[in-house]
Amino acid sequence: MRRIYFDNSATTPVLPEVLEAMRPYFSESFGNASSIHHHGQETRAAVEGARASVANLLGCRPSEVVFTSGGTEADNLAIFGVAGAGDHVITSSVEHHAVLNACKHLEEQGCDVTYLRVDGRGLVNPDDVRRALQPATKLVTVMTANNETGVLQPVDEIGRVAAEGDAYFHTDAVQAAGKVPLNVDAIGCDLLAISGHKLHAPQGVGALYVRKGTTLEAMLYGGRHERSRRAGTENVPGIVGLGKAAELAGNRRAHGDGNMAALRDRLEQALRHIESTGVNGADAPRVPQTLSIHFDGIEGEALVIALDLKGLAVSTGAACSSGAIEPSHVLTSMGLTPDRARSSIRLSLGEQNTMEEVEIAIALVAETVARLRELSPAWRKAEVRV
Ligand code: PLP
Repeated sequence: MRRIYFDNSATTPVLPEVLEAMRPYFSESFGNASSIHHHGQETRAAVEGARASVANLLGCRPSEVVFTSGGTEADNLAIFGVAGAGDHVITSSVEHHAVLNACKHLEEQGCDVTYLRVDGRGLVNPDDVRRALQPATKLVTVMTANNETGVLQPVDEIGRVAAEGDAYFHTDAVQAAGKVPLNVDAIGCDLLAISGHKLHAPQGVGALYVRKGTTLEAMLYGGRHERSRRAGTENVPGIVGLGKAAELAGNRRAHGDGNMAALRDRLEQALRHIESTGVNGADAPRVPQTLSIHFDGIEGEALVIALDLKGLAVSTGAACSSGAIEPSHVLTSMGLTPDRARSSIRLSLGEQNTMEEVEIAIALVAETVARLRELSPAWRKAEVRV
C-alpha cells in the first residue's frame, strides 16, 4: 500500500542533506565538545557552526542560542528560568502543553497565571495582554504558531506590549520556525523556543534563544555547558542536524513559501467544498503548512483510523486522557462546540510531500468522510447538517 504522511506537525522526516551532515559525528568525529584535544575541538567547531546557523535563522547572535533536548525543554527553561513564586505570568488558553503545564506547575509554586482567551479565529488580542499586565508581571508567553490550527499570533504587537509592561516575552516558535520568517528583534522577544524534529532535523534536539542581558536561572545542575545555561554534554549529531536544517530552512524561506503553500491551498480548497465542513482558523493568518478542518457528523478519531487503513497519516487535535477523548482545548477555546472540535482533523505538510500526494489525499478524505457519514445515524437523520 502506498503510504502518504501528512502529519508533519507531529514530526518530520530527517532530510537527506541533514542526515549526511550528521553522519560523521556518530563515529569518525565523536569527541566531547568540551575536551581540549583535537577530537573535542573538531566537535566544538561543529557545534559552534550549528549555533551560527540557528542564530542566522532567528536573526540573533550565536551566543544567544542555547541548545536543549527539544521544544519542551526550551519552553520549560524559558518559563522556569525567569518566573517563580510571587510573580505574575500571562499566557494564552491555546498554548501547547509544554507551556500550559509548565504554567500550571508555576501556579502550584505560588505564581499567579492569567490565561487569555482567544477569539473565534484563534487570535490573542494584544489589548487583552495590556489589560492583564500587573506590576508583578514577570513574563508574557504566547506562541508564534499554533500546533493544531497553524494560526499565527500577532507576536510582534504582543512583544511591544510586554516591553511596555517591563515583562519578559517568551514565544514558543516550534511550529513557526522554518515556515515563516522569524526575527527576534522584529518580534521583540527575550526568549524563543524551537524544536529540531518539526523542521526536518532529528527528534531530541531544540534550542532556546535567550536575549543578551536576560537573567535566566538554569534548570539543570552540572557542568558549565552552554555558558552555564544548560548543563550536560552536547548532543553533537543532533545539534549539527538542527544547524543544517536551520540553514536549509533559511534558504527555502529566501525563496518564498513556494511549494508548501501551493500544496496546502489546493488541499484546503478541495476539502472545504465537502458538505458541512469548515476550516478552523480560516480567517486568521496561518503557517503555509497546516490545515485543521471539521467534518460535521463524524468523529475525527474514526476518520484518522479509517484514513490510516488506506495509507494516509493525519491526526486529530484531541488528546486521549483516561480513556475518554477530550475535545481539543485549542478548538474549544476558539468557540467550536465539543462535537465540532471532535469532528476535526489536522493535515500538515512537509518538504517531502508532493502535489500528487495531495490529489490522492483529497480523494481519500472525500470518500472516507462520505462513508463514515453514511454510517452515522445522526447524519442520516440530518440532525447535524448545517
Ligand atoms: N511547542 C509546540 C507548539 C509543539 O507543537 C511541540 C511539539 O509538538 C512542542 C512545543 C514540544 O516540542 P518537542 O516535541 O521538541 O519537545
